[in-house]
Amino acid sequence: PEKIFPSKLILLGESSVGKSSLLLRLINRQFYNYQESTIGAAFFTHTIHLDNGAVKFEIWDTAGQERYNSLAPMYYRSAQAAIIVYDITNKDTFERAKYWVKELQINANSGIIIALAGNKLDLNTIRSVETDESRTFAHENGLIFMETSAKTCVNVTEIFKAIAEKQQNN
Ligand code: GDP
Ligand code: MG
Repeated sequence: PEKIFPSKLILLGESSVGKSSLLLRLINRQFYNYQESTIGAAFFTHTIHLDNGAVKFEIWDTAGQERYNSLAPMYYRSAQAAIIVYDITNKDTFERAKYWVKELQINANSGIIIALAGNKLDLNTIRSVETDESRTFAHENGLIFMETSAKTCVNVTEIFKAIAEKQQNN
């Protein structure tokens, strides 16, 4: 039988960047223009099958950490993986993403796999965060980096697959 490796994954990032939308796109293959805001945290599982086994992600979707700052440490303390999301049209959300990277580097498991997702790629024409800037930041910090769109379904399964592969190779 296929070996299954559990992995606790947390979604972090400023409110409205598209965390819940990315997750709903992954799980339901759907997108909602008016996504209800998450209260507290929601929990989902999603399994990615690889050649040498499967990674079963136990995914925690957190609410806007600008309001629930003190809740976050209990989510990330035992996490094996994190996706930190920002909105490519909003520079402040990228600055917030950098803060979360530092926060995890200090407080999370030392082996945590961190992915940076520049979401809303479909709004490329009004972007305010350049791809090169994010890619450089990701490279310097050892992060997986992809630009994604929950709306047009770009790099959604791919980012989870990249995390699963990195976890399997650790
Ligand atoms: P969260 O607060 O980070 O969970 O963000 P939500 O998933 O609730 O999304 C906030 C808003 O952004 C909603 O109106 C979504 O429809 C919209 N949104 C999410 N992802 C995308 C995307 O990839 N492209 C566009 N254009 N809008 C998005
Ligand atoms: Mg949400």
